[in-house]
Amino acid sequence: MNIKQLIKQFLLLDMLRGFRITLKHFFSKKFTIMYPQEKTPTSPRFRGEHALRRYPNGEERCIACKLCEAVCPAQAITIEAEPRSDGSRRTTRYDIDMVKCIYCGLCQEACPVDAIVEGPNFEFTSTDRKGLVYNKAKLLKNGDKWEVDIAAMLQADAPYK
Ligand code: SF4
Ligand code: SF4
Repeated sequence: MNIKQLIKQFLLLDMLRGFRITLKHFFSKKFTIMYPQEKTPTSPRFRGEHALRRYPNGEERCIACKLCEAVCPAQAITIEAEPRSDGSRRTTRYDIDMVKCIYCGLCQEACPVDAIVEGPNFEFTSTDRKGLVYNKAKLLKNGDKWEVDIAAMLQADAPYK
């Protein structure tokens, strides 16, 4: 150990330097978020939990074209469809396996009527796998619950499409 190191150790210079950094950050702006009480804002393009949307009159938007099912790279979507008595075509089954899903957003991009979307919700989970296989009722319920936020997200992103 040379004399310079000895003086440094005697005067606790390294420790003082550490205190200086601590003090500097103590008074600076904090970036820590107290989740779940606080949340960071999400982008309008955020790809969270899926939802099936309805028109304002309550009619489901999905026309059972199956484009989302065809484009899904994870083959997570399963659709069955048949015509209604009025001749319109609607799904009788719409399942998404959220475990298989890779949240790529291609289903949303492919949908011609903005029916299937990935909403802002990222707080969803299940204690077993079955709970993450969403059926049509669950997806429509999500759509009803998040419609205001989803519509705002789509509107904010519309100029860039
Ligand atoms: S986000 Fe991607 S992987 Fe998930 S269901 Fe849609 S297309 Fe499939
Ligand atoms: S959600 Fe959209 S893309 Fe998928 S079947 Fe319905 S209308 Fe077609």
